[in-house]
Amino acid sequence: MRPFSFEHADTMEQASRLGLQSAQGQIDANAQFLAGGTTLIDLMKLDVLRPTRVVDLGPLRHHYDFIEAGPQGLHLGAFAKMSRVADHRGVLDGYPVIAESLQLAASAQIRNMATLGGNVLQKTRCTYYRDPTWDACNKRTPGSGCSAIKGFNRNHAILGVDETCISQYPGDFAVALIALDAQMELSGPHGLRRVPFAALHTPLTGQAHIENTLGAGEIVTAFLVLPGAWNRRSTYVKVRDRASYEFAVASAAVALDLEGDRVRTVRIGLGGIAYRPWRSATVYSRNRPNSITLR
Ligand code: FAD
Ligand code: SF4
Repeated sequence: MRPFSFEHADTMEQASRLGLQSAQGQIDANAQFLAGGTTLIDLMKLDVLRPTRVVDLGPLRHHYDFIEAGPQGLHLGAFAKMSRVADHRGVLDGYPVIAESLQLAASAQIRNMATLGGNVLQKTRCTYYRDPTWDACNKRTPGSGCSAIKGFNRNHAILGVDETCISQYPGDFAVALIALDAQMELSGPHGLRRVPFAALHTPLTGQAHIENTLGAGEIVTAFLVLPGAWNRRSTYVKVRDRASYEFAVASAAVALDLEGDRVRTVRIGLGGIAYRPWRSATVYSRNRPNSITLR
């Protein structure tokens, strides 16, 4: 393992200042935040991520691990553990798609360790990205090419990709968030802001190493799902190679607003098949000859 400095942040301001070394949105930023560590430590051991500074967010955990389900909607602190949110009564009853996306992710041990913020910022599982003995990977080494296109590309993406990268966004929770039009709260050197969650992951425009729109030193502090009839009538379906401890081959987060037996609105997020968490704009129905545009 390469040498790096390890810093503890006692306040959000300090964390942002320490994280300022991070290049905006870049996957291999010089400064990385340590939340649960289940992605970060893994990739440092593999010599894929090589931060010179790791900023431990642990001391701040208890300020940002809240779970609030009420008339204003669902407010989730970004440092809340996946397992706590998945088992929370208010989430199970009011937002089943969120609870199920977390229950079906990873393993019990990882869910007990990993946070919501780290989960949405996890990296692709592309084999070539995770193995530095392969030289060609635009995500790891910009301009080097893509080993997957003509190599082993099962579990790669078909939506939102181009000839520079065909990697799949592997997470589940983000697919539920995108279906519910969630928002995200951020804290950074220039203060606080709230943005649509859909704006977090950068579309692929030939720059696979730029993954998100966070500013330098910016930290995800919370997620917000606004009230809506569809939140309660929602579910997450995940197809995978084995029943546990496995990423999606394909997944769908679906939320319906019904009037009697008529569907008024349908919101669909797709996972496993796209470069980033994907909001489906069109559906096909067996009963209709043409596609239906959702928005
Ligand atoms: P960390 O590893 O601490 O951080 C990850 C990244 O996010 C780092 O780059 C860090 O700098 C950044 N970061 C963390 N928190 C913040 C924040 N608040 N603000 C800004 N940046 C931040 N996930 C699924 O969704 N579904 C699965 O089926 C699944 N299966 C898995 C199977 C295995 C074997 C493993 C190892 C992982 C699996 N995962 C799966 C991924 C796992 O859920 C993620 O590793 C975990 O959620 C990451 O959270 P963390 O808190 O440990 O993040
Ligand atoms: Fe790298 Fe993307 Fe190609 Fe995988 S698909 S080798 S992550 S450029």
